[in-house]
Amino acid sequence: MASLQLRKVDKRYGDTHVIHAVDLDVRDGEFMVFVGPSGCGKSTLLRMIAGLESASAGDIVIDGINVNRISAAQRGLAMVFQSYALYPHMTVYQNLAFGLENIGTARAEIDAKVDTAARLLQLEPLLARRPTQLSGGQRQRVAIGRAIVRNPKVFLFDEPLSNLDAELRVQMRMELTALHRRLRTTMIYVTHDQVEAMTMADRIVVLRGGRVEQVGTPLDLYNRPDNRFVAGFIGSPQMNFLRGNVGANAGGAATLTLDAAPDVHFSLTVDAGSTARPIVVGVRPEHAVIGPADDAAIRLEATVERVEQLGATTYSYCTLGNGERLTVQSAGQTSSAPGHAMPIAIAHAHVHVFDAETGRSLRTHTS
Ligand code: ADP
Repeated sequence: MASLQLRKVDKRYGDTHVIHAVDLDVRDGEFMVFVGPSGCGKSTLLRMIAGLESASAGDIVIDGINVNRISAAQRGLAMVFQSYALYPHMTVYQNLAFGLENIGTARAEIDAKVDTAARLLQLEPLLARRPTQLSGGQRQRVAIGRAIVRNPKVFLFDEPLSNLDAELRVQMRMELTALHRRLRTTMIYVTHDQVEAMTMADRIVVLRGGRVEQVGTPLDLYNRPDNRFVAGFIGSPQMNFLRGNVGANAGGAATLTLDAAPDVHFSLTVDAGSTARPIVVGVRPEHAVIGPADDAAIRLEATVERVEQLGATTYSYCTLGNGERLTVQSAGQTSSAPGHAMPIAIAHAHVHVFDAETGRSLRTHTS
């Protein structure tokens, strides 16, 4: 078990600057997920922690020790890759035991460790098989087992479930979370899939262009995104973004308007002293409610363009008076149909406000 700190960590490949002064604290025993779009630097950051890449600047500290000059093998970490990287000519047992044999571990200790890992991962009936005789999920479990037997201070996972089909991914997500609960070892997990991040993480780091956009619990990021990027990245379908304006205010309530409904004015508490400026109002599809609501901050008229009935949920894809789009998510089945006009209500608590230029959240959250 170990804590991990990154201090102003930078990575350049020649002239290409891919990681920009990343600061991060991962707590002892935490399940931390790095998430962000492809190319944002998640793997590079993980590989620098692992010692597979060196940092161009900054410090990587594991359990209080600066590991910048410590080799990957000496850092006491274990990494699990998307490609399982199993030895095809070896059995599951041999794949699990190989790393320990290499460092001269006694046979009895190897047996005990392989046994424990096999039990944890339900691999016991498969120990005599070779990788080609295993399903994708079983292979990934062996790859995880190989990390477990090394008893690492920190587990590093690089998109470990990407090669699995959707059903198996859900199952493996649960297995990994259960494994973390049992081992309580610090885990850092890289994925581009925000659902994986939301379902597995104690805390999530959202990355974009090699920079940290926000760090927080899944619900922190969902309820209180710091900026428009995080707001759009977390949550599916994506948050709706509508152009508008905020009036000047001295702190406290400000008056906001939407381009889509110029006659609608609503009042919200925004960052103290915001000057009048263009804004983007964010509304999650599940918070755009069909029907009039007396206490709503915003009431809009939307025209339905397309409806997706999933049984338990309905998505109505709508347009507003100025042509902007609004996705509405309703529980259960609705009778909305293309061409219908419907009233939409959005409660004060669910209105996000972002500076149109910087994307920064202007909303003052009281909770
Ligand atoms: P992610 O894991 O988020 O998809 P990566 O960490 O793999 O992103 O890559 C981050 C950025 O660094 C990308 O723009 C990628 O093209 C660049 N990059 C990665 N490895 C190298 C390299 N060896 N040389 C130059 N650029 C690289």
